[in-house]
Amino acid sequence: MSFLAYRVEEADKKFEASWVEQEDADLPEGDVLIEVAYSSVNYKDALSASGNRGVTKAYPHTPGIDAAGTVLESSDSAFSKGDEVVVFGYDLGMNTNGGYGQHIRVPAAWVLKKPEGISASEAMAWGTAGFTAALSVQKLERAGISPDRGPVLVTGATGGVGSVAVSLLSKLGYSVVALSGKADKNDWLESLGAKRIVSRDDVLSLKGKAMAKPVYQAAVDTVGGDMVSAILPQLMPEGAVTTCGMIAGVKVEASVFPFILRGVSLLGVDSVEIPRADKQAVLDKAAGDWKLESLETMTTEIGRKELPGVLSRIIKGEGVGRYRVNLN
Ligand code: NDP
Repeated sequence: MSFLAYRVEEADKKFEASWVEQEDADLPEGDVLIEVAYSSVNYKDALSASGNRGVTKAYPHTPGIDAAGTVLESSDSAFSKGDEVVVFGYDLGMNTNGGYGQHIRVPAAWVLKKPEGISASEAMAWGTAGFTAALSVQKLERAGISPDRGPVLVTGATGGVGSVAVSLLSKLGYSVVALSGKADKNDWLESLGAKRIVSRDDVLSLKGKAMAKPVYQAAVDTVGGDMVSAILPQLMPEGAVTTCGMIAGVKVEASVFPFILRGVSLLGVDSVEIPRADKQAVLDKAAGDWKLESLETMTTEIGRKELPGVLSRIIKGEGVGRYRVNLN
């Protein structure tokens, strides 16, 4: 069968992309052929679509690290034609043709069953960014945070991971402090549940200090680098910060003092290679106890034609909230 895919090609050291017709025979081998209804836009998709070899080694390539749709064919008995499924992470959209194609073919080990409590379009409003926010909050809760123990900071708050983290923490009763570089989005962040907004400089000005006034119980960091360095000395005793991204940098400088004098923890979050059971558990939570009423208000649905413009905004750090891609 033929279908449309957003193919990124390299020509004269430049990367260009367009929607082209492909055949199922063009897809890699795999157990499950899926008709994709929705995908989403994440920072990693923008990197793949712009030719970043750290994400995608070989072009031409179809990005899209998220996909939700319906099984067309399966050689694995765990799935049947017509099953509604979700795939995120592993190699999807990195070096395996991804969710910006109307069809994908993937190993059965990557495929999650869509729970009853969530639609395919809602699952892609969450997408990798949202699931990463949920995994971050889960890690903090396992580290012992609780709503009565003080404010929780979220960095990159208007971004995909950040905005879902703000909403989820607020839903769970936490006092959320949103850190954003977009001063014109304060009202929007408050509508998601942020109690207070701080600027990047408010937090970064304390970078390099071994210890500072302990003002945050915990933090969900989505930007990495100096931001993590600056947060660690501002955590309360037994506090914790999760980190998942690297938009602000890859190097973290820290003294041991917050660790040995306040018992704080630095917790890494990976949404890509974790076991499938852990992915299914976070998807089930998104469909159940952690269902977010505000999710649609923070999600912009785009069609195929709008994808290039959104990808270029995301790579510049100008995205706001979540972007869902309707493949039809
Ligand atoms: P988005 O582009 O949606 O959001 C990133 C946000 O970071 C921006 O909106 C902006 O928010 C802020 N930001 C941008 N540039 C800078 C800067 N130079 N310094 C400080 N803040 C900045 O990305 P996602 O939310 O999709 O992803 C966030 C990060 O998490 C990425 O690095 C991504 O690769 C990573 N990630 C990791 C995963 C994992 O499994 N480990 C999974 C998913 C994402 P504001 O203007 O509000 O400050």
